[in-house]
Amino acid sequence: MMGKLLLVEHLEKNFPIKTGWGQSKKSVSAVNDVSLYIEKGETFGMVGESGCGKSTFGRCVLHLYEPSAGKVIFDGAEVNMRNIDTYRKRMQIVFQDPYSSLDPRMTVGDIVGEPLVAQKLPLSRKERYDIVVDQLRFVGMNTEHMNRYPHEFSGGQRQRISIARALTIKPEFIVCDEPVSALDVSIQAQVINMLIELQQKLGLTYLFIAHDLAVVRHISNRIGVMYLGNLVETCPAKELYSNPFHPYTQILLSAIPIPDPKISRSKKRIILEGDVPSPLSPPSGCRFRTRCPYAREICSEQTPGNREVTPGHFCACHKVECGW
Ligand code: SF4
Repeated sequence: MMGKLLLVEHLEKNFPIKTGWGQSKKSVSAVNDVSLYIEKGETFGMVGESGCGKSTFGRCVLHLYEPSAGKVIFDGAEVNMRNIDTYRKRMQIVFQDPYSSLDPRMTVGDIVGEPLVAQKLPLSRKERYDIVVDQLRFVGMNTEHMNRYPHEFSGGQRQRISIARALTIKPEFIVCDEPVSALDVSIQAQVINMLIELQQKLGLTYLFIAHDLAVVRHISNRIGVMYLGNLVETCPAKELYSNPFHPYTQILLSAIPIPDPKISRSKKRIILEGDVPSPLSPPSGCRFRTRCPYAREICSEQTPGNREVTPGHFCACHKVECGW
């Protein structure tokens, strides 16, 4: 890896919501003070339950949503709504649902070539055709597929088409927003392996978003765990699985199924009690305190800082900081 490609500082995203006549304005805090970096050529896995703000974070990085506060720095320069068009070519996204993210009226060739048209690149028809053919080959498809429509393909093939489309304008950075969640487990591994191969061939950098720690394990160099808009733990992938610090990460890990029945029987499963609180009125102090088995008074009074507990391993928890 060769230095930081993406640096995010104190990013926040609040969505205003409609309230009744005469009531004060309210907003939902979807992302709260998230800072992280992603090195060139690295995959940063971002994990958390549905609705924890990870997809909103990915969209804020790409400025598909305007951040409410904070900075996004890409390759040394700050990205904002005024200059985002100059970065569109360098940053792309693969969406979760390959069924709704492809226009059913367009052929595969037109879908994959669409970013070239959107970027108004001065290419002849032949040049555009050659680029589309190359991208389809990269994802294991061929020219026979070009004149067919999305509904003629399986979920895995459609996600390959989405990935080919994201690659067409040769981006350096891709937000993979739950790219395998809608696919069968057997197909998930194929798509993840393909993303790893493409990364090695093309030197890509990924922000890989998933709601399941089992999915990000294979692809990530480092992992960040999100809870209710906050990044609660970040560290190298191997370390997260062998030595998790944050109670929420420990609970998520205890829920991963283990194929060996002997190990599985001896493994203690920690049940996550209660529901995720509403982001409209998140708990004071630590946002996880209403579900945390270790919560103490300080957890409701003070927001835990995101501290570097061991080199490269960050955690936001009073228990870890104070050692109770
Ligand atoms: Fe649990 Fe307190 Fe740590 Fe939050 S700060 S995770 S409530 S121990």
